[in-house]
Amino acid sequence: MNPTKRVLSGIRATGRLHLGNYLGAVKGMLALQADEQYQTLYMVADVHTITTPYDVEELRRNRREVIIDYLAVGLDPERSIIFQQSEVNQHLELAFYLSAVTTIGKMQHLPTFKDKVKQYPQHNTMALLNYPILMAADILLYKAGLVPVGKDQEPHLEAAREIARRMNQDYGTDFPEPVSFKTEGDYVPSLTGEGKMSKSVEGSYINLTDDLETIQHRLSAAPTDSGQGKVEVVGDDQKSRRFVDQSGAESEGVANLLSLVELFEGEDKRNKYEADYQGAGIRYGELKQDLAVAIYEQLEPIQQKRRELEADPGYVDRVIAEGADKARQIAVETVEEVRQKMGLRQWQ
Ligand code: AMP
Repeated sequence: MNPTKRVLSGIRATGRLHLGNYLGAVKGMLALQADEQYQTLYMVADVHTITTPYDVEELRRNRREVIIDYLAVGLDPERSIIFQQSEVNQHLELAFYLSAVTTIGKMQHLPTFKDKVKQYPQHNTMALLNYPILMAADILLYKAGLVPVGKDQEPHLEAAREIARRMNQDYGTDFPEPVSFKTEGDYVPSLTGEGKMSKSVEGSYINLTDDLETIQHRLSAAPTDSGQGKVEVVGDDQKSRRFVDQSGAESEGVANLLSLVELFEGEDKRNKYEADYQGAGIRYGELKQDLAVAIYEQLEPIQQKRRELEADPGYVDRVIAEGADKARQIAVETVEEVRQKMGLRQWQ
């Protein structure tokens, strides 16, 4: 097995998966699982969860719930190693070794670190600072070259590549420099009209477990404008749009809604709404209703599978135990090699 053909990805155990996780990460995870040339490892990043304030009982529940979500969306334990990060101690051990080639300054300057400190000013912890090192350890432990994650993770991947380079230079390891595997929805916008969809921002997300009524309700709160105005093409890739209505105000909320339309109803539908905006006007009530139905149609089979899994806890327990065993088998080898190369073992 060529190790660069390994794939690793993870989602924190902070609650139910939302559309951002699904389109940004899970769709890529599924595509790579279906491709025979890759060995795929998908974990619940439960240790990462403790880097920001959390509830102990919720974590205990969620680290299992994310496994059920994984199985419900179609991750298959026959094809992928599905596991909980904290069950494989080597993640933490390797993270400490990797911290020896990582400067504090570099970690403090990452935009993701700064954002979280702003969000939780009372929790400016070492664990938070170490987040990217732990993520590098997650990936390098399995010598994975490909990581299906959303755009928000790019600074962390850059840090992982730098850590891999330093380890290879200083200690002669052979870590690949991991790159992200992009999906169509690598940036799913928030329903609040500002920033990305995120579990930690109330009103920003739609969960995979939401029923039609809940989806309708969440979409109905998304901000819009008068429905008529100018559409400007922006961004280097000419893919982004600015919507400026007759009052001259820009509406990020409308841009975000139309991104969701494109992701769930296709490009033609989006183009039609853009034409309406510049013509007779968009009727947002109808747009939101059609969008809610399109989203629910994709989620309904996942919810059905979830109910079946909830009725079979023994199966979920087996997946968790077997996944950890398989992950450990690879992890112990990498850690042993790193210990030897860093001088923590005699050469054998
Ligand atoms: P997290 O919940 O932060 O652990 O994120 C898990 C995965 O979902 C990561 O790969 C993120 O990049 C991805 N993700 C989270 N939110 C979004 C979003 N709004 N758009 C695209 N991908 C996202």
